[in-house]
Amino acid sequence: MGQLVLSKDILDEIIESRLKKKHRIFLDKEKLHPDYIPEKLPHREDQIKRIASILVPGLEGTRPSNILIYGLTGTGKTAVTLFVLRGLEDRAKIRGIRFRYAYVNTRKTDTTYRVLAEIARSLGLRIPYTGLAIAEVYRRYIEALDSWRGVHVMVLDEIDYYVRKHGDDLLYKLTRINEELTHGKASIIGITNDINFVENLDPRVRSSLGEIEIVFPPYNATQLEDILWDRARDAFVPGVIGLDVIKYCAALAAREHGDARRALDLLRVAGEIAEREDAERVTIAHVKQASLEIEHGRIQQIVSTLPLHAKLVLKAILYSIRDKGYSTTGETYNKYRNIVTSLGYEPLTQRRVSEIINELDMLGIVNALVVNRGRYGKTKMIRISESVLPVIEQLLSVENG
Ligand code: ADP
Ligand code: MG
Repeated sequence: MGQLVLSKDILDEIIESRLKKKHRIFLDKEKLHPDYIPEKLPHREDQIKRIASILVPGLEGTRPSNILIYGLTGTGKTAVTLFVLRGLEDRAKIRGIRFRYAYVNTRKTDTTYRVLAEIARSLGLRIPYTGLAIAEVYRRYIEALDSWRGVHVMVLDEIDYYVRKHGDDLLYKLTRINEELTHGKASIIGITNDINFVENLDPRVRSSLGEIEIVFPPYNATQLEDILWDRARDAFVPGVIGLDVIKYCAALAAREHGDARRALDLLRVAGEIAEREDAERVTIAHVKQASLEIEHGRIQQIVSTLPLHAKLVLKAILYSIRDKGYSTTGETYNKYRNIVTSLGYEPLTQRRVSEIINELDMLGIVNALVVNRGRYGKTKMIRISESVLPVIEQLLSVENG
């Protein structure tokens, strides 16, 4: 009963505080969601035309060439590909043409069974979540595609995740699928953020998957401004976003290799902060705050997925920093060993701990600077930036007691 009253109070409070707000920030926040595909994709006209003209023979029953698309994160690869495929599929439907696509993100759908099941389901097949042999799912897909007699485009997004985990057998098999088909036709679009992946791909797979290769260049600050304006117009109440705010988000994201996703995140989170504060409009201060919150979220994500010993090394660094503002490799190791033995575990070697410190440095969690201490030799000065220190302290004390 007490519980019920309490939750009722909380709900009333939330509703009242919402109703008390004088200002409205968002018109339709969904328009800033990373999965939302806008009706216009500025500065990607060339890529849209290129992909559409490669795929359009599919509407005449010809197998389109396979395409390998690569470029850094947030350069519009997923949005452009889906934009073109949805557009073509809609138009094919109106004309009664058998042209369809399947979209699988292999970072999220990460087993061979689930990848094939999703491809097969997009042709309307009912594939159970488990229970069939992979070869059986494959066989049913081929059979369905053949009796449907259409053109099927499979998009394998973030394909490097799948290949890193399971190798390239499936890709090899799928690039040869047309040899097993009599009436249906299949093409593949592989997408990756990882240029190293493309370069290390087996040459046979690369040449058949990348019959055509398309590179997405990063956006510059001015291009990001155009993109943000378009999305902001639909997402915000008129007048709450000014050019200064758009320019500032674009500049921050341009520094981050021209990532449109980061630019949109900044704008969305800045809007949420303005909404929380019941501000009249979104300001540069809100964007700065948003940038901090996003950075904290990133740190949180990294720290919570660190392996146990890396967490304990980080904890050892925190203790030294509490004492005197920084730590060294030797001090970190001593504190680490104390923590580990008090927990009843076996400590790693000093050398391994030193490697972990380097990894934490590369992840941007700590700053490790090599300093020369004369006759005492070299050591590392390890610090943690003040803006993230409280976040890490909180995460570790919660998790490890
Ligand atoms: P990638 O797949 O290359 O990592 P995405 O296609 O997911 O990048 O794009 C990241 C975000 O930026 C998405 O929300 C997408 O809608 C948006 N976006 C990217 N390019 C544009 C553009 N030219 N116009 C409007 N929004 C864009
Ligand atoms: Mg993508």
